[in-house]
Amino acid sequence: MLRRAVLVATLLGCTSPHRAADPAQTAMALAPPSPVRIELPASAEGWRGALETDARELETLLDQVLERWPREGTGELRLVVLPSPAAAVAWAERAGLAGDARVPRTHPRARLAVVPMVREDRLMTQRVVPPRTLRETIRHEMAHLLMLDRPGLAEAPRWFHEGLAEAWVGLREISAVDGRSHALGACWESALQDRAQARPAGAVQEVIAAMPIELQYTAWASLVLQCLAVDPGQRPWEAAVAHPSLASFLADRSAAALRAGAEAAPGSPGFLSRLPRPLGRDVDFVAGGRSVLLAAADGETVGLEARAWYGAEALRMRARVGRTGEPLAEILLGPPGAEQVARVRLNGFGGLVAAWESREAPPRRAHVGRLDAGDLDRWRDLDIRLLRREEWGHPDDLGESTHALLLQRSGGSFRALMPLPPGVEPRPDAPWLLEFRVRHGVFEVVGESPLIAALR
Ligand SMILES: [Zn+2]
Repeated sequence: MLRRAVLVATLLGCTSPHRAADPAQTAMALAPPSPVRIELPASAEGWRGALETDARELETLLDQVLERWPREGTGELRLVVLPSPAAAVAWAERAGLAGDARVPRTHPRARLAVVPMVREDRLMTQRVVPPRTLRETIRHEMAHLLMLDRPGLAEAPRWFHEGLAEAWVGLREISAVDGRSHALGACWESALQDRAQARPAGAVQEVIAAMPIELQYTAWASLVLQCLAVDPGQRPWEAAVAHPSLASFLADRSAAALRAGAEAAPGSPGFLSRLPRPLGRDVDFVAGGRSVLLAAADGETVGLEARAWYGAEALRMRARVGRTGEPLAEILLGPPGAEQVARVRLNGFGGLVAAWESREAPPRRAHVGRLDAGDLDRWRDLDIRLLRREEWGHPDDLGESTHALLLQRSGGSFRALMPLPPGVEPRPDAPWLLEFRVRHGVFEVVGESPLIAALR
């Protein structure tokens, strides 16, 4: 995402996009050309239609919102998606590109953006669109490219460029942070609220600079949108001084969110609990949706705090892991913030394992098993329900507990009864949190009913 990059003299080792003469391609040829030339790994060619449409929509949008900085000059803009961080590093080295190629980056003078996928796995590439966070990343870099031909923006500071690139990654303004316009909405909102409580009089620029880097982009976007709204001039980034404190910044954006149709203001009670929170990249989900896809690079963990569970309805879902990497996939269920959670792992011990374990540090033994090769890519169904003691035929199985979790697969190939510690059953006033995580691989879950929180 770094924009200050060194000029690239020549680009070597470029790959030609695979082109097939099928009807879909012919139909696409009738659409206006994409303002950005997109190069994809052959396995991900199916994403082309969606990404070229995104590029066209983004260009139209930016023509409206950046009208005050007229476009001058043209020339080819190019965006290259590479199948892994390692592939991106090798490609950038051959092309003589500066900077860490493991992170997405636009090279302005080369009019080129390079975006690595976390891994090349069929569970991702067989879809017609990239996972949501990857698609938002690609749109962010496309926006950088499309802004290159507006010389009036040349003097804007880096935070303003990043905020502009981020502000329309959902193809709508992100100011009404609601988990629909931007995947990371809840995360940045939460960081902002924490800091607002600690230092309400702090300068907004300093507060944002202290946030984790991935949240800073959303924060800059929100600040940029405020600057654009209050200053119609050529240098609205100087309007940042109009927001001396975090408290006034928050008040303005709450009002803006409500005007834009959000049903609850950022910062109001309960606002955050209604938003799903992704951790890391890449994650695919929509608020109120039934499916989750998590894709983690080797050595990384990706997760989603999906929704509250009140225990009244059974959680029915099917899950599968991808063929690449050494996937360690988990479903976590327990009181938010509790030390112990019910952890269901998809690994080599016959498919599923479940136990009460530490939320943050599962025992090492949990990770010794590899998946059976036959279980890779295959859906496994799972049914989780809360039982009262009297609903179970053998009450002694529950010890002293009044409730238990019952986990089972259809056909009886897996069944686990997990008595609850006293007093921790999910209740309407104290719901549990449903979380999904994967390490070193790809994990996909589809529920019979919504798995993800909806803002309603
Ligand atoms: Zn950027």
